[in-house]
Amino acid sequence: MKTAVSRPGFPVRLKSDAGVPSATKNIAVGVRNTGAAGLNGTKNESRTLISSGLGMDSLAVRTRMVQKLAAQGLKDPQVLAAMGHVERHRFVDSALVNQAYEDTSLPIGLGQTISKPNVVARMLELLMRADQGNRGKLGRVLEIGTGCGYQAAVLAQLATEVYSIERLRGLHDKARENLRHFRLPNLHLLFGDGMIGYARGAPYAAIIAAAGGEALPQAWIDQLAVGGRLVAPLQAANGAQALVVVDKTANGIQQTLLEAVHFVPLKSGTS
Ligand code: SAH
Repeated sequence: MKTAVSRPGFPVRLKSDAGVPSATKNIAVGVRNTGAAGLNGTKNESRTLISSGLGMDSLAVRTRMVQKLAAQGLKDPQVLAAMGHVERHRFVDSALVNQAYEDTSLPIGLGQTISKPNVVARMLELLMRADQGNRGKLGRVLEIGTGCGYQAAVLAQLATEVYSIERLRGLHDKARENLRHFRLPNLHLLFGDGMIGYARGAPYAAIIAAAGGEALPQAWIDQLAVGGRLVAPLQAANGAQALVVVDKTANGIQQTLLEAVHFVPLKSGTS
């Protein structure tokens, strides 16, 4: 173990879930991280993929997606490799499988959306800081907004440990289901209000939010390690959202506002 910080027990329970024993699950899920992971599914799974038009070509389709991302200017080799590896079509409803590798956001139920690949890659690149010379894996990462679990699966390729929190039980369960096929023992799914972060996993080398509020919760800043980076959508006074990068340094907080984005709202509490 690389850290002196106490790790959560199993199952993990968030403070906000006290008294709801089954509410929080800390799971190890998954499929082996081989290049062709997931293409050797059961007959039924294969049939579903083939009848959905994706067939056994999903690796080729993903490779094309990555080529498009590279053409759009995304260049972190680790991020591109991770996105070429994780089968996005396993995270969307069967009716949407044919759109899984298009650069579009897609509905994942309960009024939420999976971000488009370009935005996922952009945020992960910012987290990885390749521009500042980082070549290695991230340490512990906190993700707010598990959604369908796609970005969490990509993150699990890039970080030693990932804690991902979702406030909607339906999506938390769906993500667990989606991710069961993968072998990702370093990914821990939590049900709870991500606005309070997850103190037991702190400090985090990186924090990434997939939902935007009017302010960054103080808990996120507190739980970020010195030297760590947070990437999140943030709503300005005019209601428009922009990406914000927060670097926590020994001398304080440095905040940088970047391009406009469109994320679902960050909400408090669980449901
Ligand atoms: N990264 C996800 C994107 C999901 S959309 C994916 O790959 O699918 C953003 C998610 O943030 C939604 O599922 C929404 O329910 C969740 N969310 C919003 N506010 C939250 C909060 N306070 N804590 C945890 N999750 C939250």
